[in-house]
Amino acid sequence: MNVFVTGGAGYIGSVCTEELLNAGHQVTVFDNLTEGHRSAVDPRAKFVEGCLRDSALVKQSLRDARAGAVMHFAASALVGESMTDPQKYFHNNLVNALKLADAAVECGVKKFVFSSTCATYGPPDRVPMTEDLPQHPINPYGEAKLMFEKVLIWYREIYKLDFIAFRYFNAAGASEKFGEHHRIETHLIPNVLFVALGRKPHVEIYGTDYPTPDGTCIRDYIHVKDLAQAHILGLQPGKSGFFNLGNGDGYSVREVVSMCEKITGKKIPAIEKPRRAGDPPKLVAAANKAFTELGWKPLYPKIEDIVATAWAWHKQHPAGYPD
Ligand code: UDP
Repeated sequence: MNVFVTGGAGYIGSVCTEELLNAGHQVTVFDNLTEGHRSAVDPRAKFVEGCLRDSALVKQSLRDARAGAVMHFAASALVGESMTDPQKYFHNNLVNALKLADAAVECGVKKFVFSSTCATYGPPDRVPMTEDLPQHPINPYGEAKLMFEKVLIWYREIYKLDFIAFRYFNAAGASEKFGEHHRIETHLIPNVLFVALGRKPHVEIYGTDYPTPDGTCIRDYIHVKDLAQAHILGLQPGKSGFFNLGNGDGYSVREVVSMCEKITGKKIPAIEKPRRAGDPPKLVAAANKAFTELGWKPLYPKIEDIVATAWAWHKQHPAGYPD
């Protein structure tokens, strides 16, 4: 299938592009390179540098690509930043997504694959979290993603734009070629590995008074290659709706730091800081729907393997991508 990948120069988009190409699909990457990196675009893909605000370019690019499906990764994705700059999140993650969906409808795209997030749920009533839980986001990042989920429901109903939306838990790990390089890194695993690399003196732990066994937040880490496989399965005809993507195992911030010490063989000093605004205490997925309806099966469910692949990539790219 011809797949139009927005954000294909970013972390998850680059690995998904690689896996789509490996599976025999044709890929056009559309990215404005504000977060992404040109060298993260698989050389087998066609690349268009552009912004989603530019609807004329988006439509032309969709037509040139003869796109049967859009995978929409391009987004701002930092919970903490969304609490101080909500405008950025509603514009990038809602307005630009809407423009893309309009272009997709106009250009006759059959399927829209959307990168949603477990942040749409807010603090859940129960864990593991199933897709039918009430959604009460506590940060603009989750709110904007949820608003666009609702757009997709109506666009499917009225314009017949089929969609599949994946609510990612915490993406981590790397493929052999592509990994995680944000210009400003706020995510836990890369920041811990930066300490192991000597790029940072210590890691900061945001909040040690949460209602969890060790007082730090619990997250469900999912390998980026497993996310990519779910997207490929989502292209199958007749697959539609919302799917959680996680492993169902929760690890606290302290447990992640310990695991990184074990994998890297380095001591990782940590200092305790206040809570970061917008962080729910515990997010763990029940991904049974993706298992049964899509036939998805994570190949790297263990946190050891997730951290090991991230570490291998960071050791090979100690300063990240060159650009
Ligand atoms: N975190 C932390 N120190 C860091 C980065 C993150 O303690 O340097 C915590 C953060 O507060 C959250 C968890 O680690 O509880 C995962 O954060 P991350 O930013 O990786 O992903 P998020 O869950 O926000 O999408």
